[in-house]
Amino acid sequence: MIEIPVNLGPRSYPILVGAGALASVGAELSKRRVGRKAVIVSDPAIARLHAGPVATSLGQAGFDVSQISVPEGEQAKRLDVASGLWDRLLEISCDRTSTVIALGGGAVGDVAGFVAATYMRGMNFVQVPTTLLAQVDASIGGKTAIDHPRGKNLIGAFHQPRMVVVDPVVLTTLPEREFRSGLAEVVKHGIVLDAEYFEDLEKHVPALLARELATLERVVAGSCRLKARVVERDEQEAELRWVLNYGHTIGHALEAATNFGRWAHGEAVSLGIAAEARLAERLGIGSPAVTKRQISLLAAVGLKVSEAQVAPAAVIEALSRDKKSRDGRLSFVFAPEIGTFRVVSDVPREAVLEVLKELG
Ligand code: NAD
Repeated sequence: MIEIPVNLGPRSYPILVGAGALASVGAELSKRRVGRKAVIVSDPAIARLHAGPVATSLGQAGFDVSQISVPEGEQAKRLDVASGLWDRLLEISCDRTSTVIALGGGAVGDVAGFVAATYMRGMNFVQVPTTLLAQVDASIGGKTAIDHPRGKNLIGAFHQPRMVVVDPVVLTTLPEREFRSGLAEVVKHGIVLDAEYFEDLEKHVPALLARELATLERVVAGSCRLKARVVERDEQEAELRWVLNYGHTIGHALEAATNFGRWAHGEAVSLGIAAEARLAERLGIGSPAVTKRQISLLAAVGLKVSEAQVAPAAVIEALSRDKKSRDGRLSFVFAPEIGTFRVVSDVPREAVLEVLKELG
């Protein structure tokens, strides 16, 4: 098993990556001096596919195991679902030493983490991510949230897990579209943080798309390492963590302009990266060669990089509501070279409009 430390002083924890890791959750948790009660939170589909080995390993390690189901996908991140989880934890007499184990994608992780952060002012929390996006991104860093009718992730807390257990084998049951969508975050990590990692991806596209286990393990572990380094340097998302928003500024705006209905998140991020790479070039920060490598890799893994077919004005409107926009000025993270990044505020709207037109 590969162990990647996330060093956050008293809130430090390991990310454990390895094929078959699901069966080690019980043994690993028992090393962490937690209470006897362990509660697996999952959706029915994921539970059917993957809860077995987790529950068995917890039982074998002497835990008193319960399982709670939440709805699939974004529907899990509702206040009534969180409230139902609090009720259930009370019914089975969980206390602060008990552990909530999120087995699922980012949605399950976000709601289970939020409940763990708030139940009795904070209980133990473990992430067992089952989508590629959750393995390389959502499960690391302690951001938890539910949605509000006025917007996604508006109610939440920072609550670091005690450990993250990543088993690449679970990715073999992931629907193709979910898998490819997760690859957008993987490619993003390479673009802004690590040129060697990016090159490795370029060289192994077929193995990656075939979900060969050795490749998956190396790529997922590499991405976890990169995300962990960023989180270590900026736990509360002051500024450095913005680097992870590469492709997301325009990506989010594209999602918002289409009411989050047209693309999977990673598909919008891929379009966002294509647009932001061109924007960097237009501002003299990037170069045609750097743009080409980014777009080529995204296209090679089957992600969309053109023909967004959205009205640029609607995207600009959504951009002005971006969290990073201050006093009407647009801020972006750019990649001057593969493996590097630069934050630029005050990006002219006209330049953004031009690249949005180019996006089609
Ligand atoms: P998801 O959690 O919505 O899951 C997508 C679907 O995949 C679900 O239907 C689920 O049942 C299914 N699924 C999950 N694992 C599976 C598997 N191994 N095999 C078969 N099916 C499986 O999707 P996601 O992309 O993982 O997460 C999206 C959510 O993550 C959003 O709500 C987003 O806001 C959140 N997010 C949070 C953070 C963070 O830092 N907390 C970061 C990024 C995204």
